[in-house]
Amino acid sequence: MKKNKMELIFLGTSADPSMPVAFCECVHCKLARKKRKKNLRKRSSIMINSELLIDLGPDVQTAAFMHKCDLSNIKYILITHPHSDHFDVSQLIARQSDYGTEIKNKLKIIGSKRTIEIIKEIIRNKLPMADNSYEKLCDMLKIEFNKIENTQEINIGDYKVKAYVANHDRAVGSLLYKIMINNVSIFYGLDTSDFLDETWNELKNDYFDIVILDHTYGIGYKGKDHLSAESFVKHITRMRDYGIIDNKSRIIASHFSHQGIMEYQLLKKYAKKNNYEIAFDGMIIMIFQDRI
Ligand SMILES: [Zn+2]
Ligand SMILES: [Zn+2]
Ligand SMILES: [Zn+2]
Repeated sequence: MKKNKMELIFLGTSADPSMPVAFCECVHCKLARKKRKKNLRKRSSIMINSELLIDLGPDVQTAAFMHKCDLSNIKYILITHPHSDHFDVSQLIARQSDYGTEIKNKLKIIGSKRTIEIIKEIIRNKLPMADNSYEKLCDMLKIEFNKIENTQEINIGDYKVKAYVANHDRAVGSLLYKIMINNVSIFYGLDTSDFLDETWNELKNDYFDIVILDHTYGIGYKGKDHLSAESFVKHITRMRDYGIIDNKSRIIASHFSHQGIMEYQLLKKYAKKNNYEIAFDGMIIMIFQDRI
């Protein structure tokens, strides 16, 4: 049956150390502790239609408690890359029956060849057994892996997924994703620095209803390894010039760290002036079929 709406929830919107950073006394972390609310951010992840997760960071289960999400319905997990803020093995390990868990469905985990190799290694190190073949471990955890590579498009259930190379730790096979369902297309672009030419060349032919893009650094901070407020604006301007997005598209910034101006209201003001939105933990985006 076709779903008549697409619902997306931000389970987390921070970069690696979360926000505020545990032991940090910088002005941005101090302000976040004082103002709280949308200034408190968990590690980045989104859930689509209660069945597809993008990334499985260490805060996913906590976020699910807070935002009343039932992770037992998750069928697919797209992994952008295996950095610790995007992949935490403990939630997979608990799928084994030794934990008393009752799990009916196999979970499909999708990522680049290199990302899957790393994830399998992490699982095997965590579950050393005499016969710890990958096949046996996958059976035990009721998981299966699907590889996707740069520019490849695959079907995952009702979703069409396309991958683009990220300008981010190439050694771990970092990817950016397009997810399409019922003609709604989402771009998930965390983590990345300035897009590579080959990524722009692929994106030029696309159109997105929703763009979720890296905004690790705040206003006035020049970081090289991720996007900042200023480079975010440059990217969405170029996307508009190419027709990758238009006035109907929703452009949303996520994956915030604590360098540069980061206070939610100040970021929101800057984003409004530049025609984009600032994600916060628990933010819900709903698109109905009749809008398409
Ligand atoms: Zn990250
Ligand atoms: Zn700080
Ligand atoms: Zn990363």
